[in-house]
Amino acid sequence: MSIESQIKALREELREHNYNYYVLDNPTIADFEFDMKLKQLQELEDQYPEYYDPNSPTLRVGGEVTKNFETVTHDYRMYSLDNSYSKEDLLDWEKRIEKIVDGKVEFVCELKYDGASISLTYENGTLLRAVTRGDGTQGDDVTTNVKTIKSVPLQLKGNYPERFDIRGEIVLPYDGFHKMNEERLAAGEEPYRNPRNTASGSLKLQDSAEVAKRPLECLLYSMKGRDLGFETQFEGLDKARQMGFKVPEASKLATSVDEVLEFVEYWDVHRHDLPYETDGVVIKVNNLQQQEELGYTAKAPRWAMAYKFKAEQVSTRLNEITYQVGRTGAITPVANLEPVELAGTTVKRASLHNADQIKKLDVRVGDEVYVEKGGEIIPKIIAVDFSKRPADSKPTEYITHCPECQTELIRQEGDAKHYCPNENGCKPQIIGRIQHFISRKAMDIEGLGGETVALLVNEGLIQNYSDLYVLTKEDVLPLERMAEKSAENLINGIEASKQIPFERVLFALGIRYVGETVAKKLAKHYKSIEALSQAPIDDLVSVDEIGDSIAESVVQFFQSEEHRGIVSRLKDYGLQLKLSEETLANQTDKLKGLSIVVSGVFESVSRTELKKLIEDNGGKVSSSISSKTNYLVAGDKMGPSKRTKAESLNIPIITENDFLELIK
Ligand code: AMP
Ligand code: ZN
Repeated sequence: MSIESQIKALREELREHNYNYYVLDNPTIADFEFDMKLKQLQELEDQYPEYYDPNSPTLRVGGEVTKNFETVTHDYRMYSLDNSYSKEDLLDWEKRIEKIVDGKVEFVCELKYDGASISLTYENGTLLRAVTRGDGTQGDDVTTNVKTIKSVPLQLKGNYPERFDIRGEIVLPYDGFHKMNEERLAAGEEPYRNPRNTASGSLKLQDSAEVAKRPLECLLYSMKGRDLGFETQFEGLDKARQMGFKVPEASKLATSVDEVLEFVEYWDVHRHDLPYETDGVVIKVNNLQQQEELGYTAKAPRWAMAYKFKAEQVSTRLNEITYQVGRTGAITPVANLEPVELAGTTVKRASLHNADQIKKLDVRVGDEVYVEKGGEIIPKIIAVDFSKRPADSKPTEYITHCPECQTELIRQEGDAKHYCPNENGCKPQIIGRIQHFISRKAMDIEGLGGETVALLVNEGLIQNYSDLYVLTKEDVLPLERMAEKSAENLINGIEASKQIPFERVLFALGIRYVGETVAKKLAKHYKSIEALSQAPIDDLVSVDEIGDSIAESVVQFFQSEEHRGIVSRLKDYGLQLKLSEETLANQTDKLKGLSIVVSGVFESVSRTELKKLIEDNGGKVSSSISSKTNYLVAGDKMGPSKRTKAESLNIPIITENDFLELIK
C-alpha cells in the first residue's frame, strides 16, 4: 500500500471509531488501541506533510489560537422561538396554524437542549465553518474551536447535499462540568456557575487546545438548504443521523396537542436522567411544505413553539445567613433554610454568592424565600415573598469581619467577593491549604485525610504544610481514633511524598491560579523553585499561556517572607523542588528566547522529534513566520510561500544539520 493510501485508510478508520465513541456512545475498540492508531497517523503525517488534510482526526486536539473572531452573516437567519406555558397556549397555536394551512397537521416534539446555539455549514461533505447565533443575522466564526468537539463530524458519511447549514446546540454534560469545577477548586479558583454559560464561554476561548480539553458535545436538530432530499422535519432528523451527526433519539411524532403534552409530561420527569441540561420541549410542524406556508414573524417561526419546563421551585423560610471562609480566604454567604423537599432531595442550604446578590434580592433573615434548582449543584434563592415579610424585619448587613478570625475583610475593585486577608492566622484558610497540599493530585499523601489535617491544626501540632515533615509517630498517637498502625501509615505516607515530582509540589503549594497545567508549564520553563521565585512579572508573562493574573499571583506568593521560609524548609526536608536529573539531562538553555518555525520533511529526525528538541533546549516552536521568528528550519518539500516570507523578513533559513549543530 502506498503511504498516501495508508494515511487515508488510517484516517477513515479513526473517523469511524470517533463516530462510534462520540456519536453513538458505543466504542468498538479499547481507548489504548485508538491512541496507538492515532499516534501512528500523527507520525506518518509528520513525516509526510504533503498529505496534509485540515479534517484529519489528529487535528482534534486543537492548538490554533484565534485573537479575534470574525463576524459572518448566516446564509439562513437563526430565529428565536416563541414560548408557551400551558395546554391553552398550545391549543391557541394549533388554531392559528389551521387557519393558514390546509390539511392535517402533524407535530414533532424534541427536547430543548440548554447550551450555546451553533450553525455548522458543510460543503462537499466537509465542515466549512461554525458560527454562533449572534444577533440571529450575524454571528462569530468559531470554527477552530468547534473542530475540537469530537461529536462534530469533520467529514460526512453516506449521501449528503452539496452545501447546507445544520443547527444545533453545544452543551457541556454535567459530568464534564463537575470535573472542570473540581479542578478549578483545586487551583483555588471560583467554580463555574452552570453548564450553559460554561459551554458558550468555551466557544469564545482564544486557545483551541483549551477548548479541546473540555468535554463539550454538539446536539443537532435541523437542516437548512436547497434540495435536502426530505420532506418532513422528522425525516430530516434521521437524515442528519445517517450523515454522522449526533441527534438525540428522544424526538417523537405527535398528531394532537394531547400527545404533545404526554411528551412534555414524560420528559419533565425523565430529563433528570439525561447527562446534559434541557429547559423544555420544542414542538415543530412536521411537514416542510406547511412550514413554508406558515413562515416567520419578526422574531420566530410560526411553525415552532417552545414549551418551557417549570423550573422546580418551592418556598421556605430563611432561618439564618452564615458565612464560609475558603482556602483562599474568599467569603461565601450561605442561606440556611427550613428544610424542604425540592426535585427529589431535601434542601437545607442555598448559596447567596456575594454581598451584591444579597442586596439585589433584598433578602433578610425571617423572610419566606423562593428556592429553585436549575443546572447548578447548589440550589439558589430567586426571590423573596415580600407579602410574608415580618413587620420588624431589618435589612441584611453584610459582615465586615471574618467570622473565623475576626480580621477586617477586604474587597478588591472589580471583585464580587470579600476576602479575609489573614491567611496565616485564619483557621479555615490554614486547614484548607494543607488539605489541598495533601490531596490526590498534589502530594497524594497516603494515610492522611482532610479530617486528620483539621485535627492536627486544631491540636496545635501543625501550622502550615511544612510542619507535616517534622511530625513523629509519638506526636500523632494521642489524636482521636489514631491507632499504632494508622499513625505509622501516616508518617510513612508523609515520608514517601518527598519523592513527588517538582511540578506536583508546585501545584501543592496552593499559589492562587496555579492549577495542575500551569504548574507543569512553570516547572518545565523555570526548572527549579529558585528560578521561579526570582522571576519578575514580565519574564513570567513571556512563558507560553501565562497571563497577567497568574504572573502577579506567583510574584506575590514569593514576596512573602513567610512563604519563602516555608519553601526553604520544604527544601531542607528533601522535597523535589527542581526537575529531576533525568528530566534535566535532556534539557538545555541553548535556544533560550528563540522562536523557531519548522517546515518540510527531515531525514534524521521526525518533525515531532525536532519540535521536542527545540522545546527541550529552551526554544519556542511557532507555527507561522513573523518578524519575531529567529530561525526557519527548512526540510525537504518545504512550501514555497514559507520560504518567500522568510526571505522577505530576512529570517535565517537553516538546514536540519545546522540546527543539530546549534544544540550540540
Ligand atoms: P430562545 O433562545 O429561548 O428563543 O430559544 C431558541 C433557541 O433554542 C434556539 O436558538 C436553539 O439554540 C435552542 N434549541 C434547543 N433545542 C432546540 C431544538 N430541538 N429545536 C430548536 N431550537 C432548539
Ligand atoms: Zn479569617
